[in-house]
Amino acid sequence: MSLDIVVCEGYAEVEKNETGYCEKNHNKGRFMATSVMSVADLQRLLDTLTERGIETIGPTVRDGAIIYDQITTTQELPIGHQEVQDGGYYRLKATSENSLFAYTMGPQSWKKHLLPSQQHVLTAERQGRGFSVEAAPDEPPARAFLGVRACELAAIRELDKALLKGPHASEPYRKRRENTLIIAVNCTRAGDTCFCTSMGTGPRVQDGFDVLLTEPYKALPSVCLAEAGSLKGRELLDELELAEATEAQLRAADKAVSNAADNMGRQITTEQLPKMLQDSLSDTHWEAIAKRCLNCGNCTMVCPTCFCSTVVDTTDLTGQTAQRIIKWDSCHTLDFSYIHGGSVRTSGMSRYRQWMMHKLSFWTEQFDAFGCVGCGRCIVWCPVGIDITEEAARFRERVSR
Ligand code: SF4
Ligand code: SF4
Repeated sequence: MSLDIVVCEGYAEVEKNETGYCEKNHNKGRFMATSVMSVADLQRLLDTLTERGIETIGPTVRDGAIIYDQITTTQELPIGHQEVQDGGYYRLKATSENSLFAYTMGPQSWKKHLLPSQQHVLTAERQGRGFSVEAAPDEPPARAFLGVRACELAAIRELDKALLKGPHASEPYRKRRENTLIIAVNCTRAGDTCFCTSMGTGPRVQDGFDVLLTEPYKALPSVCLAEAGSLKGRELLDELELAEATEAQLRAADKAVSNAADNMGRQITTEQLPKMLQDSLSDTHWEAIAKRCLNCGNCTMVCPTCFCSTVVDTTDLTGQTAQRIIKWDSCHTLDFSYIHGGSVRTSGMSRYRQWMMHKLSFWTEQFDAFGCVGCGRCIVWCPVGIDITEEAARFRERVSR
């Protein structure tokens, strides 16, 4: 796979062109030549965001994992940490590489910050024989997501399709999305369970970002190459007055991203995949998977594209106050498919099959893309290590026999 970094000549020609492409069709969505950003420059960027009242959410080590949380300094980044991951296995290991962004996929995705696992919708108070209803305040803070990977941008695109458009558009999601600045990072290391190249979602970030960083070198002092993908991003980088990247730095960045593409931990064959799985709907192998699957729903919770939610009403013990909450739901629960009189998917097998079929087959009919972006989280956080890539390969093998 060839991953070209093309330096676009300047802003003017892109600005004239409404499509966001320069006249040579270079650098989709990019506005300026690539600059060099030191750790100190990155800190200045974080400081600028803080001064503007923008909260930065970025990768940081907590409780033995790399999670996304509020950070204000570069020292909070997972420097010197990498993950070892496999089916049902996740550990952090210390490394002598002092990269800022050498980690891959932790348990959390950006879904947590765009579509929180629990959202308070309203509170109702009993008032005599009636009641009053008050909507929950929902003014999300302005945020910058630092460290968004190509597969995660692809996942956000899928969330956008489901939650910004159509009859079920979510106003809270729209507000969060509009209030979010995206500082993406190209992957220069592939995780043990990553397969974004198979899904066509990475490891090189193509669009959908405000600023894009690439960290080609592994030793400190770390240097990132930075490019803008929006007017907001360009304005932020302009303020830092960064020097332009040299040819050697561009080549090193290109090589580092190519290296990630060439070293994916997993792969999946997507050719005719939706049809192949639909041809396998009655295969007895679903039963074999169901014998292992606990229907715990972990795979849906960690998946960056799973967007299903349910509405829960609760009252306090006096019956005076009630609250309505929207919370993440999972197709692995019995209640998920409850319609009048009972659940449609009563067996664990039918629930696992629904999950996998939606990711790799039905989603293509609904949203014209796969519902899986190849992040590998469902493999790592499945307590019994069920691996979606292995299961897809098993069905293909059985269909071809
Ligand atoms: S596939 Fe794994 S993570 Fe998903 S519900 Fe089954 S046991 Fe849980
Ligand atoms: S199905 Fe699994 S590998 Fe695919 S996007 Fe969801 S969590 Fe990642």
